[in-house]
Amino acid sequence: QTSIVLFTCDLRLSDHPPLRAAVHGGGQVVPLFVRDPAVDRAGFAVPNRLAFLADCLRDLDAGLRERGGRLVLREGDTVTEVCRVAAEADADEIHMAGDTSAFACVRERRLRRALEADGRRLYVHDTVGTAVAPGAVTPASSDHFAVFTPYFRRWSEQSLRSVLDAPRAITVPAEVRSAPLPERGEVSGVSPQLCAGGETEGRRRFTAWLRSGVHTYASRHDDLAGDATSRLSPHLHFGTLSPVEVVCRARATGGADAEAYVRQIAWRDFHRQVLAARPDAAAHDYRTHRDRWRDGKDAAAEAAAWRQGRTGYPLVDAAMRQLRQEGWMHNRGRLLTASFLTKTLYLDWRLGARHFLDLLVDGDVANNQLNWQWMAGTGTDTRPNRVLNPLAQGKRHDPDGAYVRRWVPELANVEGAAVHAPWKLPEPERSRTGYPEPVVSLAEGLERFKRARGRS
Ligand code: FAD
Repeated sequence: QTSIVLFTCDLRLSDHPPLRAAVHGGGQVVPLFVRDPAVDRAGFAVPNRLAFLADCLRDLDAGLRERGGRLVLREGDTVTEVCRVAAEADADEIHMAGDTSAFACVRERRLRRALEADGRRLYVHDTVGTAVAPGAVTPASSDHFAVFTPYFRRWSEQSLRSVLDAPRAITVPAEVRSAPLPERGEVSGVSPQLCAGGETEGRRRFTAWLRSGVHTYASRHDDLAGDATSRLSPHLHFGTLSPVEVVCRARATGGADAEAYVRQIAWRDFHRQVLAARPDAAAHDYRTHRDRWRDGKDAAAEAAAWRQGRTGYPLVDAAMRQLRQEGWMHNRGRLLTASFLTKTLYLDWRLGARHFLDLLVDGDVANNQLNWQWMAGTGTDTRPNRVLNPLAQGKRHDPDGAYVRRWVPELANVEGAAVHAPWKLPEPERSRTGYPEPVVSLAEGLERFKRARGRS
């Protein structure tokens, strides 16, 4: 008997239920990844994620080779390629992870139909990309939770499946051919400080995090300069780490910090269960909303300043420049820049979400679109009118200004908290910095917001 394991956003060997099921059958296994142009057309093919993906595929192949196997890479329509490989290998079972986006659901339906027509079976495994599967917990009156706190209560009560070891040996049929694996170096336009991908790197980071990071998570996760979060989001996005394993091992360290960390993983599952029930929320307001976002020439210029990190608000600009430089941004920065775009500039959240997806190495439809909606007040936030003030945020989360100085070189010589309000610097020091004036005053921003929300 031969089985295929179709890898998608689960590029690992450890704790991988589809791989376990395929190997368990005792026969040969084809570990398959398909580079599908439709995924690219859906907005995936951005340099940072392609470079990270190249690392992941190479590492997966290396891990399989250590076990006597190899990764098979194909290019083309996923359904066509899986059917071709199934015919070449005479495979009767195909295993893959469940997924939530509209794209993934259509792919799964098409795949099932095509395989069944050929007399083969598709097995879709839950809890590969989430700790608790979408739909596993629901409120009495709906197919999903719209508010996080009650969701988290139920989520915490679930017992998780056990963590699975990586298989020891894999035999791949010799006749199945593979395209050459991509290399990170072939991708141009990558952020200069993009992190490395792959399961080996993900496990190394996770182990280091459990040893020396998680114990201070509750008190330090918002410290922008301290950079004291796990930075595991790209690994969770590409599935080089398993969310079930992350939760189990973090919990095992014990204590309130580990629980605070696990709560963030629950946020990830929360957004996935919203998207699974409401796939339209990737592009449309989750709650009906009558806002008309600003547009026109001034709005376009302000959006450009926001993208370039030249709004004149140092904390906003520092975060936007971190995004460009690293392909990643601290969560506090994401909250602030999203609030600034949607509630101070009063520009459409979709414009910001697209820019994030163009650069974020962890760019993820569920997490990105629904966090944007949360901040824009069109999503699941129970306080949709909260506005984050860049000055107050600076005082709380970058009190000494070290984060701003790290990312905004024009202000590198301004000492202490004064860096958050360069417009207060005496002349000629202020002009010498070359740093832009604020695109809008915070007072005017607040007026725009009140006018627009008063109308809606
Ligand atoms: P940690 O603080 O170490 O948290 C651990 C893990 O929990 C993260 O790796 C992530 O998987 C999950 N997590 C943490 N916060 C959230 C959250 N608010 N929602 C969902 N999951 C969370 N996260 C993405 O993975 N992809 C995105 O595209 C994305 N876009 C975002 C856009 C906006 C506007 C905002 C406000 C947040 C977004 N987030 C996104 C959530 C969050 O900012 C990142 O997951 C986090 O900053 C990643 O850093 P970390 O791994 O060090 O997080």
